[in-house]
Amino acid sequence: MSLDESPAPHAPDAQPAGASSAATADDFKQWVCVICGWVYDEAAGLPEEGIAPGTRWADIPPDWRCPLCDVGKEDFALVEF
Ligand SMILES: [Zn+2]
Repeated sequence: MSLDESPAPHAPDAQPAGASSAATADDFKQWVCVICGWVYDEAAGLPEEGIAPGTRWADIPPDWRCPLCDVGKEDFALVEF
């Protein structure tokens, strides 16, 4: 018998094209400081603090703190639209 290593015709990770109504700006989210209301936008990043545009919340250093009120990441909440 032979092991066929050629990829299957239907790849399991195929993404459905145009599944949603094109309004979602990629996948970027916003996080709001529950203490002072300052908002971190993943798409915009925080270049003045060395955080490049497009940096995900999860990729921000755990010791990062709110630029306004100096609380930690645990005091931020995901902004739901
Ligand atoms: Zn804050």
